Amino acid sequence: MKKYSLAIHGGAGTILKEDMTPELEEQYRQGLQQALEAGFSVLENGGTSVTAVKAAVVHLEDNPLFNAGKGAVFTKKGINELDAAIMDGKTLEAGAIAGVRNVRNPVELAEQVMMHSGHVFLSGKGANDFAIKQGIKLEPDEYFYTQLRYDQWREIRDSDLYTLDHKSDKLIRAVKEIKFGTVGAVACDKNGNLAAATSTGGMTNKQYGRIGDSPLIGIGTYANNKTCAISCTGHGEPFIRAVVAYDVSCLMEYKNMSLQQACEEVIMKKLVEMNGEGGLIGMDANGNAALVFNCAGMYRGLQSSDGTGLIAIYDNDSK
Ligand code: ASP
Repeated sequence: MKKYSLAIHGGAGTILKEDMTPELEEQYRQGLQQALEAGFSVLENGGTSVTAVKAAVVHLEDNPLFNAGKGAVFTKKGINELDAAIMDGKTLEAGAIAGVRNVRNPVELAEQVMMHSGHVFLSGKGANDFAIKQGIKLEPDEYFYTQLRYDQWREIRDSDLYTLDHKSDKLIRAVKEIKFGTVGAVACDKNGNLAAATSTGGMTNKQYGRIGDSPLIGIGTYANNKTCAISCTGHGEPFIRAVVAYDVSCLMEYKNMSLQQACEEVIMKKLVEMNGEGGLIGMDANGNAALVFNCAGMYRGLQSSDGTGLIAIYDNDSK
């Protein structure tokens, strides 16, 4: 039987062991493990890669540790605006939403856009109206309040997040650390079909309706059975300018690179030259995964039907 696999991420960035307590680290590992199990069991039971990535991302969205759904960061106005996307590599159908509020699981709304809207990308109030029409679960503002995210926002809300030349080291660290907490999943199912999904609260203190790479098809999220499924995390602006996910796919399609080679070319060379910090998870149609990042760490997990798998946080993280 063909190998089938699921990979997930919970954000990349300045994730350092010295900033972590053993208890918190354990909570992150458990959160990743549970999401991985939720998605992988779909594949084991013969479900599609689309269903699997959605199940994994819903789990991560419901976990307040990650910057998506319940753990979403605060905007300059002190609210939570959510972005998400999903793509089916078999049909090249895709759905995405940006700047929505009060949606418990943005990835479910993205899937509804893909299946029932006749469009690919909905934003703001219109996307919220569509959520209501489709009977998507909504939550009050309080649901999205977490003390950690609120405190992180309070520390920088009077600063300009987009420049990192702040005086205080603590502030720079805070900004770097909280920027990247997006969640995502990529999967190859028993039939060799690929899918990708990504969900985020974006960047703390974002303003003017800023949208990052996560919900942009071909940038933060992409899937194509011919090549790969990709979900990115990192500083959205350079990722957008580098057209990251589709670039990986193109290197595979037109230059015959392997998934690993293509991911390294884009994340470790092209993005580094553009000062773009972050990483991605990728999957090819043989169930091989690549988990590549150019920063201190990336919350990540992988499980394959051949028994291989991992849960890891830091670079050189053997666990
Ligand atoms: N890429 C996301 C954005 O720029 C942030 C993240 O990955 O955490 O909105």
